Amino acid sequence: MAYRCRISSNFSGDNDEVAPGFRCCCCCCCSVAAAIISSAGERTASYSRMSDLETPLRPKREKGVVDFLVQFRWIFVIFVVLPISYTFYFLIYLGDMRAEVKSFKQRQKDHDEKVKKVVKRLKERNPSKDGLVCTARKPWIAVGMRNVDYKRARRFEVDLSDFRNIIEIDRERMIARVEPMVNMGQITRVTVPMNLALAVVAELDDLTVGGLINGYGIEGSSHIYGLFSDTVVAYEIVLAGGRVVRATRDNEYSDLYYAIPWSQGTLGLLVSAEIKLIPVKEYMRLTYTPVKGSLKDISQGYMDSFAPRDRDQDNPNKVPDFVEAMVYSPNEAVCMTGRYASKEEAKRKGNVINNVGWWFKPWFYQHAQKALEKGEFVEYIPAREYYHRHTRSLYWEGKLILPFGDQWWFRFLLGWMMPPKVSLLKATQGEAIRNYYHDNHVIQDMLVPLYKVGDALEWVHREMEVYPIWLCPHRLFKLPVKTMVSPEPGFDLQRRQGDTPYAQMYTDVGVYYAPGPVLRGEKFDGSEAVRRMENWLIENGGFQPQYAVSELSEKNFWRMFDASLYESCRRKYEAVGTFMSVYYKSKKGRKTEKEVQEAERERAEVESPYAEAV
Ligand SMILES: Cc1cc2nc3c(=O)[nH]c(=O)nc-3n(C[C@H](O)[C@H](O)[C@H](O)COP(=O)(O)OP(=O)(O)OC[C@H]3O[C@@H](n4cnc5c(N)ncnc54)[C@H](O)[C@@H]3O)c2cc1C
Repeated sequence: MAYRCRISSNFSGDNDEVAPGFRCCCCCCCSVAAAIISSAGERTASYSRMSDLETPLRPKREKGVVDFLVQFRWIFVIFVVLPISYTFYFLIYLGDMRAEVKSFKQRQKDHDEKVKKVVKRLKERNPSKDGLVCTARKPWIAVGMRNVDYKRARRFEVDLSDFRNIIEIDRERMIARVEPMVNMGQITRVTVPMNLALAVVAELDDLTVGGLINGYGIEGSSHIYGLFSDTVVAYEIVLAGGRVVRATRDNEYSDLYYAIPWSQGTLGLLVSAEIKLIPVKEYMRLTYTPVKGSLKDISQGYMDSFAPRDRDQDNPNKVPDFVEAMVYSPNEAVCMTGRYASKEEAKRKGNVINNVGWWFKPWFYQHAQKALEKGEFVEYIPAREYYHRHTRSLYWEGKLILPFGDQWWFRFLLGWMMPPKVSLLKATQGEAIRNYYHDNHVIQDMLVPLYKVGDALEWVHREMEVYPIWLCPHRLFKLPVKTMVSPEPGFDLQRRQGDTPYAQMYTDVGVYYAPGPVLRGEKFDGSEAVRRMENWLIENGGFQPQYAVSELSEKNFWRMFDASLYESCRRKYEAVGTFMSVYYKSKKGRKTEKEVQEAERERAEVESPYAEAV
């Protein structure tokens, strides 16, 4: 196969200037201007520096009508999606405010009523006539990117949309008891003024507690607390038969407690969760540190930013409260480490306070990139603005949706309407644009053992060439039972950098954007790239969060995830025949109810259907 020397897309901050000395030494790379995704004209691709990594040379691709629609989608976004999004956010905010004035006693009473309705609805289901159970949430409302094709088949919906109250903030137990539709923006608005926060606050305002538990949730504190579901102390679940149970790690439902995360709501319906709170201070003292060199150098710099080489991982003096890194090119990254700081400290003379949440401020990933030019710097960010720092620009996806959204004039004039609601973008894209994005765009997270981050970065560069890349570490705990997602066997004997005897350090390698070949107008097979990524993950002890499009066959799905506990809970709690299986729910492609039910029947009949795969 022919190979080319490496190219990288260079996001150059506020002004998007082409880097001085920009030269392309490979003629086909010069066609960056022919980029087919709308932002490509804005986003200048350049060689940052030569590297020994190589990427395959791909043939050119012909443009079609959909390219044109995607290129000018911003017109629709500005005049339709943004105003409606803004109105939605405002109405939701009013609804939350109304809910918050209710007493906790009233909220508990309302909650009990709502649970009764769910039980009643489940009992109304006639298994011989009705489809399998799922929530009534419309696929486009969810933040995730998978196809949710199961909602095209006959199904029995249970409406959980009213479950959006924070039932109780228990300062003594340091627990927030919340309903599943409570979202991250709502919860930080309530807890941060109390100097409290969920131990893991997922970044985007719209992400819901139910989705983050049953699906996947992570943030920059996950190197201490694990994934979002690891911070849950108890689940209140309505089981298939309508029984309501409270599952904790040490009561009679402890197997269910461990099986819920990653199960996508296929074991029961979550109606509330008790989640760990931590004390926080008003500000985050954030240090931006540039790292330059090869992708292996970058991965080592990233590891050193939060994982002491002497393995003293539980020492708060050596391990920051928050960590993330952005890899901007194959040679350049910025690592950010944060520590909570009081307002007295932040306001001390000489300290810089940056309110990154203001609508006119540069987008966060571009602001952080300035460290590559000016070197390491420190600033103080109000804690809540820090938690939601990527919300306004949807990480860097905002640049694809609104190519000029990061320019100062846009930010000042219309930045207050950002971000567009992901749900509205999904609702208005139509089938053709959706398929186009599947082929020409990547939104995937690769969860890999920390010591393999360098390999993962090189893989992404070779196969996808997507920049920036988001790096966020997270612990995978050694649990008393093997759950769908577990650390590598024997990790505790080897104890590499970041590991402790009780948890292996992993990292989320977040790959979101148009791949380099697409920006250069070359052919790129998105489905094939995802398939190869999934195989790479299976071979390297990694996992793929199922909010993203998946090409996994059933056999490979169960090579990536462990089926044993999940399957035994499916049988024990009579979920088989009532809820779809997690594979069928996550799978891409249309499936009929008959297919789903046949698979369910087989599963119920066969003792261990995954014997071959596990
Ligand atoms: C643009 C974008 C940005 C993202 N940013 C982040 C981020 O910053 N941090 C992060 O951690 N993740 C992020 N994600 C991924 C996100 O974590 C997942 O989509 C996650 O599953 C939450 O999405 P949701 O709240 O819309 O849940 P949904 O997609 O609605 O739900 C996820 C699953 O849980 C099930 N479920 C939900 N509620 C219940 C319930 N009450 N009972 C039973 N089952 C239920 C649903 O049926 C579904 O299978 C992002 C994804 C995208 C596309």
